Amino acid sequence: MASDEEKVIVRKRAHFRCEYCKAPEEITGYAFHIEHIHPQDQGGKDEMENYALSCMPCNRAKSYHQTGQDPKTGHEKRLFHPRKDKWNDHFRVEGKIHVKGKTAIGRTTEQRLKLNQKRQLEARALWLELGLYP
Ligand SMILES: [Zn+2]
Repeated sequence: MASDEEKVIVRKRAHFRCEYCKAPEEITGYAFHIEHIHPQDQGGKDEMENYALSCMPCNRAKSYHQTGQDPKTGHEKRLFHPRKDKWNDHFRVEGKIHVKGKTAIGRTTEQRLKLNQKRQLEARALWLELGLYP
């Protein structure tokens, strides 16, 4: 469990955005989760390098998963790792609100975390109008 100090650092490090879908925390009305990238019950450590800031929909969909199926190839791939991977290397924003995977890791994460659910797209359209997305 991250300490209060560590939680502040994790939020700042993530620029107050979900590290998977880039949702801005300030406008959602709740504190994003400090998630374990590598789940604790699968040997993940309780340390800064294993923490990521995640919105509720991403954290719920990710759950205990570390891999998924690449929708393009059908092969099992690992998910995006916010500490090891760069977001822009694996994702792009299409049409200003759709988060699209551009690598096997990106595509697998897009599908596993359901990064473009209807409600998320609706919210992003509003954030876009406010200049808060992407
Ligand atoms: Zn998210």
